[in-house]
Amino acid sequence: MSIKINFDSKDIEKMIRNQANKALEKGVDGTCPNCGKPLTIKTGKTYCSHCKTTMNFTSNI
Ligand SMILES: [Zn+2]
Repeated sequence: MSIKINFDSKDIEKMIRNQANKALEKGVDGTCPNCGKPLTIKTGKTYCSHCKTTMNFTSNI
């Protein structure tokens, strides 16, 4: 018995992107591009309480 697995790299890429986008919707740990302090990055507007900067992150990676 042999098992054949066809890997479609495009599908895998899509899967990884979906996962990353889902993580971004919930919020991921990151650093502020302006002051370098840690903050939670979310899709849409992210506000840094350290330097009072508002950033916009798009959901598409
Ligand atoms: Zn900041």
